[in-house]
Amino acid sequence: MRKNIVAGNWKMNKTLPEGLALATELDKMLSGCQPKCEVIIAPPFIHLASITATIDTKKIGVSAQNCADKESGAYTGEVSAAMVKSTGANYVILGHSERRTYYGETPAILKEKVNLALKNELTPIFCIGEVLAERESGIYFDVVKSQIEGSLFHLSAEDFSKIILAYEPVWAIGTGKTATPQQAQEMHAFIRKTITEKYGKNIAENTSILYGGSCNPANAKELFANEDVDGGLIGGASLKAADFKAIIDTF
Ligand code: PEP
Repeated sequence: MRKNIVAGNWKMNKTLPEGLALATELDKMLSGCQPKCEVIIAPPFIHLASITATIDTKKIGVSAQNCADKESGAYTGEVSAAMVKSTGANYVILGHSERRTYYGETPAILKEKVNLALKNELTPIFCIGEVLAERESGIYFDVVKSQIEGSLFHLSAEDFSKIILAYEPVWAIGTGKTATPQQAQEMHAFIRKTITEKYGKNIAENTSILYGGSCNPANAKELFANEDVDGGLIGGASLKAADFKAIIDTF
């Protein structure tokens, strides 16, 4: 059966010493217990190798927040999937709305990133979600469906089964405005139906679909209680170990 997962997206926060301190604090908090969900943290690229060398990566998976859409070569400033893998990280967030909006990442570019992540044995945490105008005009199902189709539906069933999805309504990210549990469940059920139509019920039932967008210790339980919500991708609330742990503990 599919896994419940709580993943923390640190975004562009924390210097290296601060990041190491946060990861170590979380590692200590989890050392005496067995969390009832998979736990992943996604620090900035430059923290990855130090963090994987410091914490128990069997208990806390480590993810990059992005990788290049090219294999290697003259792409100044880029970080390849192979480089991410060589740090000991095993996951990569792809398609985050901030990457789509500020860095022009299109479904076609993201398709390349997904391919390279899988080729390098990184598990993509693939983000999808509509902006406010798309929600208000009622086209949000179509938007999310085309994001999935455009970057993931070329995959074989075997490769698709390696993907973690994160539904993140853009209007809820960093705004303090969370989707209601009903809105989250409705979209997650739609995503699972979309996967069923393409890959069949077995793969759809085994795909973890996380919710992201102003999720915090106060609202996580209600959101995660929904049948098709398999945990969360957490931004702001993952920057404090106690808050992140409280979200993990909702499982
Ligand atoms: C995110 O950016 O992935 C996110 C969910 O952010 P926040 O929790 O801060 O809304």
